[in-house]
Amino acid sequence: MKNEYVRPLVVFLTVLAITFFTFITINNSFSTYESGQIFEPTDKIYSLVGYRKNSTTEKYYFDIVAEDMNQQLVLLYGFIPDGITVNGNVIVQPAGFNSSQFSSVLVDREWFNIQTNSVTLEFNGKNNPYNQPVYLSSVEGASKWLSAYYMIFAFNIGIVFIMSLYGLSLYLNKPGEDYLFWFSLYTGALTIWSLSSFLMNTKWHFISYLASHAYGWSILLDIIICFKIFKTKLPGKFGKLLSRGGIITILLVWSLLERFMTSNFRDYYYLYFISVGALIYACAKHKKGAWMLLVGQTISLGMRLVVAFSPLNTMPVSYLLRVMRYAKLFNTPFAICCLLLINRLFAEKFSESEALAAQLEQSNQILEIKVSERTKELKDKQKQRNTFMMNIFHDLRTPLFVLNGCVERVSSVPERIRQELPVIKDRLDFVQHLAEDLFLMAKLEDRQVILETERVPIGELLDRVIKACFLVSEKKDVLLEYNKYNDSITWGDEYRLEQAFQNLIINAIYYTKPKGKVYVDLKSSDNMAYITIVDTGVGISPEDLDKIFDRYYRVSGTEKHQSSGLGLSIAHEIIKQHQGSITVKSELGKGTVFTVKLPVIP
Ligand code: ADP
Repeated sequence: MKNEYVRPLVVFLTVLAITFFTFITINNSFSTYESGQIFEPTDKIYSLVGYRKNSTTEKYYFDIVAEDMNQQLVLLYGFIPDGITVNGNVIVQPAGFNSSQFSSVLVDREWFNIQTNSVTLEFNGKNNPYNQPVYLSSVEGASKWLSAYYMIFAFNIGIVFIMSLYGLSLYLNKPGEDYLFWFSLYTGALTIWSLSSFLMNTKWHFISYLASHAYGWSILLDIIICFKIFKTKLPGKFGKLLSRGGIITILLVWSLLERFMTSNFRDYYYLYFISVGALIYACAKHKKGAWMLLVGQTISLGMRLVVAFSPLNTMPVSYLLRVMRYAKLFNTPFAICCLLLINRLFAEKFSESEALAAQLEQSNQILEIKVSERTKELKDKQKQRNTFMMNIFHDLRTPLFVLNGCVERVSSVPERIRQELPVIKDRLDFVQHLAEDLFLMAKLEDRQVILETERVPIGELLDRVIKACFLVSEKKDVLLEYNKYNDSITWGDEYRLEQAFQNLIINAIYYTKPKGKVYVDLKSSDNMAYITIVDTGVGISPEDLDKIFDRYYRVSGTEKHQSSGLGLSIAHEIIKQHQGSITVKSELGKGTVFTVKLPVIP
């Protein structure tokens, strides 16, 4: 045998031996009452020992001798196939009574033999009475022990039922984990089996059918869980047996076999050894949690064997062990270990994802730090460049101003140069204008333009701008119209606002062909003034629309005027610094609408 199997096998045998002898010891520590002894009533419960056997009839007898005449005793008994007689009174088993229930009978003075002060139990069949549970107690004791039985019974059903629901809900949330489904089915079968003594004889055939097969199914599913939970595969073609279809076939074939086999066939304890084999294999393959299940299964098996096999068939079985068997408590250690393992598997998955999340968070933090460092670096560089540019633009203005003045004042120059002078002047104007715009834009971006804050009547401001633009529009033969629907006052820098509107209106005139129209409207609503500049000009394509407010952006192919590509950026920046906004809508070939929104003083 391979080395790796030795340890789990040794553990199995050790735990089995410990469980077996522990339960035998518990069994033997229970009170017994010997046939013919004088019975002193206490609230203990007694197992009967020392049956007499009649060699001719081969029947078993037991004598109970009462302490006094008025004594009442209770016999607690399980299923006795051939029945018993107490001093000639036949004990009838209640209807529907089966091998997982206890019933009780009161033995009072009328049943006693007055001379001997005793009663004799007679087992009608030839069955070994040690196999048939009869326990003796006082009236108080019996009611105490019977309620203990029902409590243990209900407790066990509750445990397996909740485990089944737990497995099912986990499975529904995580259908990929196949073993959860089989665990739920296994504990479901245990629940039905535990209830089988009540369900077996119901008028609903399906429920009786389930109840009559639940025991067999619980054993098969117990084996299947041991494979499924560790994802153990069967070799070759047998692998199919563990597929969903394979398992359902096994369960159905088993139910059929159960129909036709004798009742002894129900005691298939030996099948549990297959699951033990699967668990030993899992331990040998170092599967997580395999040891825990092996120990749980071995304890369950050990408890079962104590009641099922010799030497208990020839000696009294304590009430406690009987109750454990009737309440199907033997499976619970294994089922609980399964539950613990499932919880552990889920907890591990949970910790894994938590660790991953923590890792992710950590790398996010690192990334964030890097991004903010980089952004700061870029901002610093941008600022440096801006300052540098601003200095250049500033330095350009003075010589250009001087140069322009000189050109204006030139009088005595040769004829050839005089002819060139208007062109030189025009270019100088353009460069000077460009330098002004660049300087202003750089200052606006750097927030270095100190804006005045005064009350500015927008209507009057627009009047002035329109007047100034009339010259340009007339020259271009473009109709310029202004409608003031209502007047509004805003806070701000009048000079800069004029500049912004002038840029927008001049643009509208420039990009409109002769005979075209430019309308300027002023309206207000909800504490906002809306100034629209509508033209019937060339329009802007949707691709360019997002970019026209960018610095130096000029739509390619538009008719050139002396533009710097800064007019809109300057207007945008000024309006933004007045807590306003500019939006634009345009259709190529039809015209453009710029809408400026400014807050007004109520
Ligand atoms: P420019 O100095 O070139 O006019 P602007 O920043 O003022 O620069 O405008 C950017 C671009 O937006 C212009 O090149 C032009 O193509 C387009 N544009 C601006 N206003 C209009 C308009 N009213 N109609 C058509 N296109 C316009």
